Amino acid sequence: MTENQNRVAPVTGAAQGIGRGIALRLAQDGYDVAIADLDFQKEKGEGVVKEIEELGRKAVFVALDVTDKDAFEKAVDTTAEALGGLHTLVNNAGIAQVKPILEVTEEELEKIYRINVHSVFFGIQAAVRKFEEQGVKGKIVNAASIAAVKGFPILSAYSSTKFAVRGITQAAAQELAPKGHTVNAYAPGIVGTGMWDLIDEKLHEVNGKPIGQNLKENVDSIALGRIETPEDVAGVVSFFADERSDYVTGQVLLVDGGMLYN
Ligand code: NAD
Repeated sequence: MTENQNRVAPVTGAAQGIGRGIALRLAQDGYDVAIADLDFQKEKGEGVVKEIEELGRKAVFVALDVTDKDAFEKAVDTTAEALGGLHTLVNNAGIAQVKPILEVTEEELEKIYRINVHSVFFGIQAAVRKFEEQGVKGKIVNAASIAAVKGFPILSAYSSTKFAVRGITQAAAQELAPKGHTVNAYAPGIVGTGMWDLIDEKLHEVNGKPIGQNLKENVDSIALGRIETPEDVAGVVSFFADERSDYVTGQVLLVDGGMLYN
């Protein structure tokens, strides 16, 4: 295991799912971690804080709506004050929407773009300000998806936001390289979280297949033959978060058990 003593990372959307898995893995790697999630997730988030403390690392819950730029700036300051600096930001929070393209509303587009895309800009801006203040060569890790590499039907809004995350990752990597910061993204496939419960339920409403069937069909198409876990994703984030990836930037790494190939 790589030692990251005294490094600090906020992980957005870390009260549950993939974010929780990433937070726990970074703590195992020696990071102190801020669990940044919506206020209503406080109880779950405090549960993750406890799990991290049991691993012998420091952690705090920071209430944050990632669509609020000022709040993101404050959350970064709060994290740095509480845990002693900032070295990595994991822009993990995101939502899915499952709807035929002809039915997607303006309000839905605005919502998903604010959560999945605007937040990545806000996070990068807030974190880089802090890295520069501290003289730290920082690491930004963004949540993409297999839907960032291939557009998926009935997930047009979601796919388009994840393509955007890929674009931001590539552009930011080039802009921030002269300052010594790296920017990369992880692209999970089918992870068994609340997000896929929702996708399966919505796909059932659209295509009438029994509950669980859409998930099963997708999992059946995975070469490694099993559903993905948050720990599978967290292994890639662990790599992007420390010196093993110092010469890697602007990359979107598929971690999907063998669904898409580049
Ligand atoms: P999840 O729904 O289980 O968890 C998402 C977390 O984000 C929740 O804790 C939620 O409270 C938080 N969140 C939502 N809106 C927020 C906001 N405005 N501000 C702060 N926090 C907010 O989802 P997950 O499956 O763990 O997904 C995490 C990331 O991984 C997302 O970006 C998602 O698009 C991506 N991803 C997931 C899958 C999958 O199969 N589950 C696949 C590819 C990519």
